[in-house]
Amino acid sequence: MMTANEIRESFKKFFEQKQHAIVPSAPMVIKDDPTLMFTNAGMNQWKDIILGTRDPEPRRRADTQKCLRVSGKHNDLEEVGHDTYHHTMFEMLGNWSFGDYFKEGAIDMAWEYLVDVLKLNPEDLYVTVFEGDPKEGLERDDEAASYWLKHVPADHIINGNKHDNFWEMGDTGPCGPCSEIHVDSRTEEEKKNGPTGRELVNKDHPQVIEIWNLVFMQYNRKADGSLEKLSMNVIDTGMGFERLVRMLQGKHSNYDTDVFQPIIKAEEQITGLNYTTFEEEAQSTQKSQPAQEPINVAMRVCADHLRAVSFSIADGQLPSNAKAGYVIRRILRRAVRYAYTFLGQKDGFLYKLVPTLVHEMGDAFPELKAQQTLITKVIKEEEDSFLRTLDKGISLLDKAMEDLKAQGKTELDGVQAFRLFDTYGFPLDLTELICRENGLTVDEKQFDIEMQKQKERARNAAAVENSDWVTVLSSSAAEIEQHFVGYDYTEYSCHILRYRKVTQKKNEFYELVLDYTPFYGEMGGQVGDAGVLVNENETIEIIDTKRENNQSVHIVKQLPKDPTAEFMACVDIDKRNASAANHTATHLLDYALKQVLGDHVEQKGSFVSPDTLRFDFSHFQKVTDEELRQVERMVNDMIRQDIHIDEHRDVPFEEAKKLGAIALFGEKYGDKVRVVRFGPSCEFCGGIHASSTGRIGFFKIIAESSVAAGIRRIEAKTGQECEELLYQLEDTLKAVKSFFNNAKDLQGVIQKYIEEHDTMKKEIESFQAQAVERLKENLVDKAQMVNGVTVVKAALLPINPQSAKDLVFKVREAIPEHLVCVIGSRYQDKPLLSVMLSDDMVKEHGLNAGQIIREAAKLIQGGGGGQPHYAQAGGKNIDGLSAAVDKVIELASL
Ligand code: ATP
Ligand code: MG
Repeated sequence: MMTANEIRESFKKFFEQKQHAIVPSAPMVIKDDPTLMFTNAGMNQWKDIILGTRDPEPRRRADTQKCLRVSGKHNDLEEVGHDTYHHTMFEMLGNWSFGDYFKEGAIDMAWEYLVDVLKLNPEDLYVTVFEGDPKEGLERDDEAASYWLKHVPADHIINGNKHDNFWEMGDTGPCGPCSEIHVDSRTEEEKKNGPTGRELVNKDHPQVIEIWNLVFMQYNRKADGSLEKLSMNVIDTGMGFERLVRMLQGKHSNYDTDVFQPIIKAEEQITGLNYTTFEEEAQSTQKSQPAQEPINVAMRVCADHLRAVSFSIADGQLPSNAKAGYVIRRILRRAVRYAYTFLGQKDGFLYKLVPTLVHEMGDAFPELKAQQTLITKVIKEEEDSFLRTLDKGISLLDKAMEDLKAQGKTELDGVQAFRLFDTYGFPLDLTELICRENGLTVDEKQFDIEMQKQKERARNAAAVENSDWVTVLSSSAAEIEQHFVGYDYTEYSCHILRYRKVTQKKNEFYELVLDYTPFYGEMGGQVGDAGVLVNENETIEIIDTKRENNQSVHIVKQLPKDPTAEFMACVDIDKRNASAANHTATHLLDYALKQVLGDHVEQKGSFVSPDTLRFDFSHFQKVTDEELRQVERMVNDMIRQDIHIDEHRDVPFEEAKKLGAIALFGEKYGDKVRVVRFGPSCEFCGGIHASSTGRIGFFKIIAESSVAAGIRRIEAKTGQECEELLYQLEDTLKAVKSFFNNAKDLQGVIQKYIEEHDTMKKEIESFQAQAVERLKENLVDKAQMVNGVTVVKAALLPINPQSAKDLVFKVREAIPEHLVCVIGSRYQDKPLLSVMLSDDMVKEHGLNAGQIIREAAKLIQGGGGGQPHYAQAGGKNIDGLSAAVDKVIELASL
């Protein structure tokens, strides 16, 4: 039996023999694409080739791609764990042809691989073809069917509708019919007694499932819904690796293969619970105990989610409370919930499974191995903090249920259930479960309404409307591709190729694509260029430049009057130079951090703008002041050496690695890369840099902090920003010196000052205490008896709030019973009312100092409160103070 690792290799080998270039998986986490957070299909990384904005060579490619289907168009999250063939993260094996072979080649190769190489039984295989759609003017894909007939009998070919057999990248963009290959993996007995496999295709039968989808892209869907033919036909195939392994290993569940079993075994060991495989379940005479099913589901959920979360952390996406980070956080929390509820794990659990995962997959995916410590730390911290939240949520729910019972109600408010979901990660089913155990129900309708409202809010916030691109200049296909000349020029003559209108939150702007541009589009943490488009007739301001599908997209507020005219594209040089210097400084910083802290330092994010730079990296404790100073010295030393940039463009990826360039995990690199070297610092980088390190001027770290478990952040300034910083510091210091008569030994003088201040403070406090003591004696002497109660009062004592408090407590010490004490005091022209009652006045006479003071404080235009026996209230109206004091006596009804 082939192992999973062997099967992965066999796929690559097969397509290599068919002249395909074997390429690495793109990162699972997508950066720099506003339309997609995670890779959800193998074709994502070829989007720009398919759209025609990138060179298609080599035209045949194959890979295994890490995919995540937990958001957007493909979201399988809720299935995961309950069925046995959908995962959040899975590998998609794929082969591509960009204008090379088409339907026949793709079908023949798929068949050859599955049947001739892997020896799957052809009788178990069924294929689907697109049945056509009159509304779209599309006919049945007879062409694909005719090629399938070479391999399978007609009754193994099934017509499929637009939903299953017409593949679209999104609302717009490349699309076309597809053919899926399904496998009937039922047992012989089931096949004999049940319906034919044909009848079960695409019917959600757990043993008749799709394994491979061959997409024949031949159209482009436009914003108005119409289809146009693509200039180049594309083959895009995707086969679920875990499903293929299951078929080849003769299993009936993906989780029973060696992809998942080691993880599940580890779960069994930690929890002391058993997982039952499909076979074990079939063999046991009676259906497995009902109590076993939730354990099985929970173990599958944890095994699956562990992979999703670990791979995403390795790709640089940590759990957080926004966007992609939030999606990852929700996956992790789902796993924690299952482990907590069904596997009895009240402490962190998933992080203990990381070593097994790394052992199994670390060879095929070295990013896991290299970052094992980080992955473990992040997961553990995230688990711990969510478990604390869960505890809090549970006690909130307990309280809510108590209140309900006290009110004689039996239904929990949907708003409350939603708040538990939204703030504490309690999904409705968990809340319902806990409520049911307490004989209560949940208002699901209201919950749904709240959920809908929130979705609406999110949608409105994110709503972006793109119109179709309007082509301005299209002479030949070659010119559709944009030329970026920004490494060598800051001004260049150009034409507009195309533009489109974008509406976002009622804001309108235009995006322009130029044939030649010196403008750098925001990427790799470096902000985009700003500048202008000019000719003799007009000047158009470019407010920002973004990067999309490998192109610089220029953002402008208005279109030129004549979009076909020739322009000069001019970058704002001051801003550009400042961000270039900051970018170069981040490279030097990266290098210095590795030298000072060690090789475990991995870049985890950066932000480079004209006025600042930020650099996130993995490191497991605070960077000390000495270490920071060492880093600064090293960077500034490299700046003074004025090292010239040594730049290599279009270097093949492998060669760049040999140059010693540092590649980042989770970063997408093309076949050809750019390498930027400044002396010992050498990195893969597409950014804009200073021509030499001297241009940075000076480098100063201004902050070091933690952004997440195991991730530190350094913020720094360079050049002119440092100069400003220095002036500010100098001015502050000058001002401080002048306070101390420009003393020479400033530190000594301040030190002495502080000591004197401390001594004086102590003396004053002791004087105040004495004064309070005298006041107390005085007041107690003058106390009056009213109806058996001792009334101590004063209206306008000039003492501070703390003394007023001390005073009433001292009075109570002196007169512990039958006491009503009220003090009006003033401090810095503000009135203050303090009330103190003896315990018997509260318990036996039902008085409440807090309530009394709220009422009386109105007379000083103030408010306050406190406990039943003691309360204070401040106010604004000093003239009302003595009336307020009398009011207190009155309210005490004496
Ligand atoms: P299904 O109908 O089973 O959800 P799909 O139509 O969503 O599959 P495609 O988008 O065509 O699948 O993806 C190509 C292949 O990737 C599928 O044939 C399948 O083998 C695999 N695949 C898709 N989704 C998942 C998933 N969530 N987990 C594991 N494999 C998957
Ligand atoms: Mg699906």
